[in-house]
Amino acid sequence: MPFNIIVCIKQVPDVKTVRFDPKTGTLIRDGVGAVINPVDLNALEAGLGLKDAVGGEITAVSMGPPQAKEALMEAMAMGVDKGVLLSDRAFAGSDTLATTYILAKAIERLGAFDIVLCGKQSLDGDTAQVGPGLAARLGIPSVAYVEEMRLVEGGMFRLRRETDLGCDIVEIEPPFLATVLPSINKPRLPSLKGKIRAKKTGVIVWDADDIQVDPEKIGLNGSPTRVLSTYVKGFDAKGEMLSGTAEEQADALVKRLKDANLL
Ligand SMILES: Cc1cc2nc3c(=O)[nH]c(=O)nc-3n(C[C@H](O)[C@H](O)[C@H](O)COP(=O)(O)OP(=O)(O)OC[C@H]3O[C@@H](n4cnc5c(N)ncnc54)[C@H](O)[C@@H]3O)c2cc1C
Repeated sequence: MPFNIIVCIKQVPDVKTVRFDPKTGTLIRDGVGAVINPVDLNALEAGLGLKDAVGGEITAVSMGPPQAKEALMEAMAMGVDKGVLLSDRAFAGSDTLATTYILAKAIERLGAFDIVLCGKQSLDGDTAQVGPGLAARLGIPSVAYVEEMRLVEGGMFRLRRETDLGCDIVEIEPPFLATVLPSINKPRLPSLKGKIRAKKTGVIVWDADDIQVDPEKIGLNGSPTRVLSTYVKGFDAKGEMLSGTAEEQADALVKRLKDANLL
């Protein structure tokens, strides 16, 4: 049974090159490369693996500046059929609430779908809210932290999700949204054939009018989140070496932890 799969990918600063200005509290973007959010590669692979097994179509969707087109080209070079970039100056400043609204409007425009896949969280915003928020906007169930996804009998999927206490096995029927963990698979590399196909096909670009969004629900207008300050987490506590026998050191350590109300 072929599936219509949508994978949401975000382009993020390449952490290998990104630096932070402690004085201004902002990212130094000069000379910083951009990459597909690493766990979104796993979301892409989960979709591609399913397509390999049973057929279907995969659309990668990304909201971002024009340069995010590169991320979609890479996804297409991996095997994705269609790349859709949601780009408009009016989207700038969107927090997760506005982002999920914009993504949901685009997915509605794409038409019927079976599965939406997202990464667990992004490297930069790091909230892990977009997947579940998007599912709520689309009115479909979501399963977060998925580390295994298998198609079982009757068109059902068996998902294993990691929890703090162990794991849950969830059986679910499409349509649903899953956010995946890096452990779910090993993403394939883009192929030369894929790169050529991506170049020929190109990326679809939609702006605010194309997806008919309410201007009050996007960008800063639609974003209740306000960043009051950002800073580099420093370690200003001094280390202390405890002396004496192992027993004396353990006693001293327990005392210090109790004094600090940590025990
Ligand atoms: C406190 C705070 C303030 C912010 N302020 C601003 C701001 O002023 N201006 C601004 O531009 N941004 C801002 N952002 C960033 C913006 O809110 C997020 O980047 C965006 O909403 C996605 O959230 P996230 O990065 O936490 O994604 P997460 O929820 O961590 O991402 C989970 C998954 O959702 C999908 N996903 C996430 N974002 C996208 C996307 N854009 N396109 C497609 N798929 C996606 C991916 O599959 C990803 O793996 C802010 C973020 C935070 C936490």
